[in-house]
Amino acid sequence: MTRKERLGNVKRILVKVGSAVLTGDNGIDLNIVEQLVADIAALRERGLQVVFVSSGAIASGKHRMGIEGKLKNLPQKQAAAAIGQGRLMRVYSNAFGKHGLYVGQVLLTMSDITDRKRFLNIRNTILQLLEWGVIPIINENDTVAVDEIKFGDNDNLAAMVANIVEADLVVNLTSTNGLYDQNPNNSKKARLIPVVKEITEEIEKAAGEEGTEAGVGGMRSKVLAAKKVVAVGTPYIIAPGKRTGVLQEIMDGKEVGTLFLPSAEHLNSRKYWIAFTLRPRGRLVLDEGAVQAIVHDGKSLLPSGITRVEGDFVIGDAVSCVDVDGNLIARGLANYSAEEMKKIIGLKSSQIEQALGYKDYDEAIHRDNLAVTIHHAEKPKG
Ligand code: GLU
Repeated sequence: MTRKERLGNVKRILVKVGSAVLTGDNGIDLNIVEQLVADIAALRERGLQVVFVSSGAIASGKHRMGIEGKLKNLPQKQAAAAIGQGRLMRVYSNAFGKHGLYVGQVLLTMSDITDRKRFLNIRNTILQLLEWGVIPIINENDTVAVDEIKFGDNDNLAAMVANIVEADLVVNLTSTNGLYDQNPNNSKKARLIPVVKEITEEIEKAAGEEGTEAGVGGMRSKVLAAKKVVAVGTPYIIAPGKRTGVLQEIMDGKEVGTLFLPSAEHLNSRKYWIAFTLRPRGRLVLDEGAVQAIVHDGKSLLPSGITRVEGDFVIGDAVSCVDVDGNLIARGLANYSAEEMKKIIGLKSSQIEQALGYKDYDEAIHRDNLAVTIHHAEKPKG
């Protein structure tokens, strides 16, 4: 299938732009903003909906305060974001205004979306903005976010938002041309990878570790974000953000950047939320039979297949399920607390009542609340 065919049905695009594209030595680069906004406006002309995730608040605030080098601590970063976010919105509002488009600001923290009700609320708000033809501009609410409620970086935020709005395509505009097979800064032999069919260990390795000065993500966080996005069946493109008309080129089906193909079998939005949005509070180690049953046979997880319980979770918390080697197999919502789970591991479901004095469920995690995250050749049933 050609790129053009693959992207033929795309209606709603999430575009994410990083600080390294947007900001330079003089703070926000207004030329880049104009160029990018014109590109987004042209997507709108094509009848596409655009959700825009923009970084640059902290970098812009830092520049306004005349601070060189890195910001020292969290309060400095949060204060810089408070200054920069307002500036960022003003710049966007002016630039989109020239194309007759309005913008709406949406600032999120992780805790806003781990609550299912708030998650749905945010979704409704963003969809309303789209219905009004307004461009939602989304960023992390950096002034209030502390570690516990942080997305960490905007690559992750964009992946979460793509799930919230059910985007058909995610384009991550970066300061590089895409993903290379090795670090292009260190090797002349590095080659751009045009298409990634599956995010293997090798691909993750190619992404390396390092971030750029302006943003916090780096290539690694982009590939991890791509993994989350393709898991729900959405294609993901890492593309050069400074290239004029890059979004048009992408929608014309040109071979620009790196395209990550959606995984053949994918999670629905709620299972994605269980797998990637909720923070796991514990870990269940599964025996081989249980791994087989949940991955290949579409079964629930029974206490009999659990060999170890780690962490401190209560009923309804998200937990990770790993195999004996520690590989993540699935995430799900626990039917029993950690304390209870420890008492019933290895037992048959008929023995739960005797062990706990009550039994509300036969399963440790019901299939409906279980999101299988590993790639596997055979199709699951659930
Ligand atoms: N939210 C941060 C900002 O607007 C950017 C985080 C990132 O670089 O990923 O400055």
